[in-house]
Amino acid sequence: MEQWLVGVDLGGTTVKLAFVSIYGEIICKWEIPTDKSENGKYITTHIAKAIDEKLRELDESKERLIGIGIGAPGPVNMATGDIYEAVNLGWKNFPLKNRLEVETGLPVVVDNDANIAAIGEMWKGAGDGAKNLILVTLGTGVGGGIIVNGQIVHGTNGAGGEIGHITSIPEGGAPCNCGKTGCLETIASATGIARIATERLQQTDEPSRLRHVWNEAGAVTAKDVFDAVKENDALAQQIVDEVTFHLGLALAHLANGLNPEKIVIGGGVSKAGDVLAQAVAHHFKRFAFPRVAEAAEIVIATLGNDAGVIGGAWLVKTNMA
Ligand SMILES: [Zn+2]
Repeated sequence: MEQWLVGVDLGGTTVKLAFVSIYGEIICKWEIPTDKSENGKYITTHIAKAIDEKLRELDESKERLIGIGIGAPGPVNMATGDIYEAVNLGWKNFPLKNRLEVETGLPVVVDNDANIAAIGEMWKGAGDGAKNLILVTLGTGVGGGIIVNGQIVHGTNGAGGEIGHITSIPEGGAPCNCGKTGCLETIASATGIARIATERLQQTDEPSRLRHVWNEAGAVTAKDVFDAVKENDALAQQIVDEVTFHLGLALAHLANGLNPEKIVIGGGVSKAGDVLAQAVAHHFKRFAFPRVAEAAEIVIATLGNDAGVIGGAWLVKTNMA
């Protein structure tokens, strides 16, 4: 019997689950809402139930499953599989590995959500097997995963790969959720891009498509900015230039230390596609050591929302299969 891997991507609103073949092909994927009531105490029970119900639906038994690889939105104690803290879920020192193993009767391996997305892209996505890779995800926040010699960088206390909190504006930057100011996240996240766009619209009378959007909708989004760039809107181009300057600079600093083969840009903002990748590459090349710039290819993520579950499955494959 061919066995399956279970990948789970635990987010603040939904839990994405998939049964995946040992070759990384999704056999079946689905999602359930994240129950954050009572500090997230029911989450593991719901995951266990969801797996059992899906097996019943497919008329399969648990013997099919090798184990579970799960990504959680917070720093992970890699020795114990505990989550130090997941603010979104209400967890503090939550024994995720232990609870999920008890509830499912399956072995569980835990990692951070951005890290498993990086692994997914390395294995089956834009990373194309590259063993030295940086993933930066531009969503509501800016997340990251760093892979060196095929291994995720966890760091000393689980905070490795926190690309979003590289300081881009040392003095007088916007406040960040982490407590600092001027983090890359305050500039290159969807929220950051929208904030910068609004500020620029307030500072100038320059005609722009964005001004129409702003007047009509009362707000502009990151998507509006990139859509306007595709229409050659000058103000939108300036905003993207400002954002990608900081992104390219931060990635060049990282790359000078890591010498990666691929830099993968994911998250909702990456739907902007080539316009974004080319603008980041332009600034990246200015600031990276020439030999580092030569080796690194900047690409858009290809797995979308599946990156996490595929990365989770890879964890099972490499740790248990
Ligand atoms: Zn920060």
